[in-house]
Amino acid sequence: MLKGMEFPEFEKWVQSSGFRPAQALMLWKCLYGNNSWAHSHDELTGLNKDFRKMLCGNAEIKALSVKDIITAADGTRKILFTLKDGLVIETVVIPCSRGRTTVCVSSQVGCAMNCQFCYTGRMGLRRHLITAEIVEQAVFARRLFSSEFGSITNVVFMGMGEPLQNIDNVMKAVAILIDEQGLHFSPRKVTVSTSGLVPQIRRFLRESNCSLAVSLNATTDEVRNQIMPINRRYNLGLLLETLREEVDRKHKYIVLFEYVMLAGVNDSMEDARRLIELVRGIPCKINLISFNPHHGSIFMPTSEEKMIEFRNVLAEAGCIVFLRLSRGNDQMAACGQLGELGETQSLLRAPAMFRMASFGI
Ligand code: SF4
Repeated sequence: MLKGMEFPEFEKWVQSSGFRPAQALMLWKCLYGNNSWAHSHDELTGLNKDFRKMLCGNAEIKALSVKDIITAADGTRKILFTLKDGLVIETVVIPCSRGRTTVCVSSQVGCAMNCQFCYTGRMGLRRHLITAEIVEQAVFARRLFSSEFGSITNVVFMGMGEPLQNIDNVMKAVAILIDEQGLHFSPRKVTVSTSGLVPQIRRFLRESNCSLAVSLNATTDEVRNQIMPINRRYNLGLLLETLREEVDRKHKYIVLFEYVMLAGVNDSMEDARRLIELVRGIPCKINLISFNPHHGSIFMPTSEEKMIEFRNVLAEAGCIVFLRLSRGNDQMAACGQLGELGETQSLLRAPAMFRMASFGI
């Protein structure tokens, strides 16, 4: 599977098959270079005949097949891909008027983390994606949409799955995405998101210069334990202390905190003030995200006025904070909405405070 190899390994494989390194580079550019993005042997143009013949017999180029493309009212596209074993993953392409287009890639089929506000979490984990399946989502985004949207500039690992639970394949994919002779995404424009797997966060920050987004979503362990079960293993104190330590070792590095706002659960002004204290000393930006309700969800979105009030408290304390409007909501292409219908992972029993917040009972 050619797209599963970083360039040094790729070059070694070409050489061990009896061909020169220069041919490895030409092939690499066919797969990842501008306006080429080959995904069949027929599209490998400009290579010598023997080399192409060897590739036809020994190399797989394509890991994904497009099953469907759904367009939301705001132009966001959700691409459904079928994998070789018949499972389906989802990738979202989000055009932005400021000349920046983002592709949101999946890293697993389903997810084991069971965050209570997330639709994907309900699927449970089916399997990790291999490196080629991750990389090819970005290649496809460029291949399908570059002429319509212009350059696809950003990659976020915020599709299906917890990327850091599949860290080996994700680290390899990230290295391929930022390779200067290929896809050449800027490292700071490739963002890997996590629900808070502490040992893997340490590894990621030590081995990669790409951006990290941490899904925080609560300001007390009591609430976070309920909405993000991973907090029972790695609590807020440990998570934030690890970030403080690791970011301190890096040069001009900023962590992105994601905070999905759930009415009556994590959106009080006390939460805002606690959040300021929690992130103190960590160079960061905070995204306040409006919750996208979905079938079976017990949560309600915070009102826009309250989100603005919350944002203002943070901004007045000197935090860099943004409100993130939902994109692609009408076609279930928004954050936390990816996955197939059907439930295999159950919701936790909601404590009384959430039931009161969500349903007003
Ligand atoms: S929010 Fe992310 S980590 Fe949590 S269940 Fe959904 S996909 Fe998994």
